[in-house]
Amino acid sequence: MKLFRPATLVTLFTLAVSPARAWDYEGHRAVNQLALAALPTNFPAFVKTAEARERIAFLAGEPDRWRNITDDQALPHVNGPDHYLDLEQLEEFGLTPETVPALRYDFVAKLALARAQHPEKFTAIDPAKNKDHTRELVGFAPWAITEYCGKLRSEFSYLKAFQHYGGTADEIANAQQNILYTMGVMGHYVGDGSQPLHATKHHHGWVGENPHGYATNSSFHGWIDGGFFKKIGGVKVDAIVGKIRPAKIVGDPLKPEDLFRQMMAYFGDTEKLVAPLYQLEKEHKLTPENEHADEGKAFLETQLARGGQMLGDLWFSAWEQATEDRYLVTELKKRPAASAETK
Ligand SMILES: [Zn+2]
Repeated sequence: MKLFRPATLVTLFTLAVSPARAWDYEGHRAVNQLALAALPTNFPAFVKTAEARERIAFLAGEPDRWRNITDDQALPHVNGPDHYLDLEQLEEFGLTPETVPALRYDFVAKLALARAQHPEKFTAIDPAKNKDHTRELVGFAPWAITEYCGKLRSEFSYLKAFQHYGGTADEIANAQQNILYTMGVMGHYVGDGSQPLHATKHHHGWVGENPHGYATNSSFHGWIDGGFFKKIGGVKVDAIVGKIRPAKIVGDPLKPEDLFRQMMAYFGDTEKLVAPLYQLEKEHKLTPENEHADEGKAFLETQLARGGQMLGDLWFSAWEQATEDRYLVTELKKRPAASAETK
């Protein structure tokens, strides 16, 4: 499922803005499967059937599949930046992780304003290398996750209304299918958030000053996404699932920015692992043949578990915090009266 990427060094500028995948499909599947393991026994049963589990696992790869129609312009434009946030670049725009706007278009406006006010601070963008118009951006992953959480909470809200106020079997089934779809797709971005190379400008090799002599080859990204695991026989979900605790609430819908700030903190914690990840590579601990490769493996498995844990917490919170869709309840209450009138 990977696009061909030349392993040669590209310019610093291209490194800083080129779109990136995170975990290969196998890793993303694992994140979604690990998240399922976090759900409590009283979580809605329709999510836990074998078919639903497989659907949720399959959908972990969906936003990467969207990348594969390479002749499209609109989809890469909107999809590409949802997979990452180059945290260090916020500073170039006069922003910090703590003060960056919580709403996507407010954030975009800030980026545009900073460029317009201080064009001299930014490298000129080559239109030939910017077909999808994403090079002006630094990534939207925490915004995308927050938005998906809203969709999931909405879906649980109307499911609850249908279930409690006489929705038809078809309506309930449709609501449940929507929930499975959203759970699966949003899992992709939460998984991206646990891959350190998705929270940094050093995503395809170290760029700029490099006092520690970290790897600069762009192929490092693909190695972390899946190359390492492929070499050791794949991701073993059963061996990681022990790291998962029961899901907890994350984010308070009564505080508008709370969930977003927690997603920023999630990416901030991931970004702290960028240098340690490069250090592991430098010490050859991400080389399966090395006697200390277990350290590298444990590091990557812990990140898959972090992604799965966060995702399980987000799913659980959306379900717990969803109140019955009031508009729909009102409409559903009219139904028996309406059908009686027509008789
Ligand atoms: Zn991704």
